[in-house]
Amino acid sequence: MKNLHNALRLKQLYQLKDLGYKYTNIKPFSYADQNPLELPNSLKTLKEQAKNCHLCSLSKSRTNVVFGEGNEKATVMFIGDVPLAMEDNTGQPFLGRGGEMLTAMIEKVLGLSRSDVYVTNLLKCHPLNTQEVHETQVHTCKAYLFKEMELIQAKIVVTLGEKAYHYVTNDFTDLKEVRGTIIQNNSYVLVPTYHPNFLLKNPSLKKEVFMDLQKIKELL
Ligand code: SF4
Repeated sequence: MKNLHNALRLKQLYQLKDLGYKYTNIKPFSYADQNPLELPNSLKTLKEQAKNCHLCSLSKSRTNVVFGEGNEKATVMFIGDVPLAMEDNTGQPFLGRGGEMLTAMIEKVLGLSRSDVYVTNLLKCHPLNTQEVHETQVHTCKAYLFKEMELIQAKIVVTLGEKAYHYVTNDFTDLKEVRGTIIQNNSYVLVPTYHPNFLLKNPSLKKEVFMDLQKIKELL
């Protein structure tokens, strides 16, 4: 699977960069050289594979892999950034006050229930220090996220927070500049907005998120 191959190659390059390499004669990537590293075409099997994943260092500190959950045929998919400690304890995404706020956003503004949508994260394992998530970990784990997106085929993808927007799109513009923009992709529209956990610390931004959700409601 192309994304997994790319993630593994990127991981290797970042590791070499961390070791101080400025140039490496690593040979150009060729799919023909690779063992078959296919990610499965069913969410259930993909989740099982992620649960046994040791592709990055976060596998050493996690208690549970926090895979996405919700409607496998959802029209709307929410992508957060990293699982919190309480989510690591249970293996479920978007718990606690941030999770409650997300549920309220879905129910009260979109008029949907949480079981109508699919929620997931950029990283499937909890980092001990969320401020120190390494690019290598994100680029490695993105293969799971992109496979989830491919399998769910949501028409509207909502990225929650700057990390999710940056790494899903590879556009590193400040979130405050792109928030609420409707970005058309081949098979879905992407709408970036703030993460509920960020809103808990910055309640004055709820109005902006409400406006973003109104746009999503119109798209529905
Ligand atoms: S964060 Fe992702 S890539 Fe790293 S061990 Fe967990 S599932 Fe695997």
